[in-house]
Amino acid sequence: MEFTVRTTQREEFIDITAEVGRALADASTLAGADGIAVAFVPHTTAGVTINENADPDVVIDMLAGLRRLVPRDASYRHVEGNSDAHIKASLVGSSASMPVRDGRLALGRWQGIYLCEFDGPRTRRVSVTFIEGRAE
Ligand code: ZN
Repeated sequence: MEFTVRTTQREEFIDITAEVGRALADASTLAGADGIAVAFVPHTTAGVTINENADPDVVIDMLAGLRRLVPRDASYRHVEGNSDAHIKASLVGSSASMPVRDGRLALGRWQGIYLCEFDGPRTRRVSVTFIEGRAE
């Protein structure tokens, strides 16, 4: 299962919770299944993370925090000029896993899944893999 996301800023978090849930729902063989879903981005300057999607200021603060941790200009060697984006992508990671119960995402009440863009705007791909397994 795969979908694309068109980002519009150099740096932004885009809530992809609904798209990930839809990708699971579209896989009709998963109806009623328990297991783990993995959302993965095949990119080196974007990532995936799970965090609060109730207050939109949280992701704004997270981006600001990452910018403080990893300045855009810091005498990097990489000639492409986007080393800060590579570092931020590795900090958040290129995948996130989440439990699936009865064929649906079982996230916490305040959690959402975010595509983290660090060198946009670009078109990003997100793959969703489902691994069946029962929680004991
Ligand atoms: Zn680069």
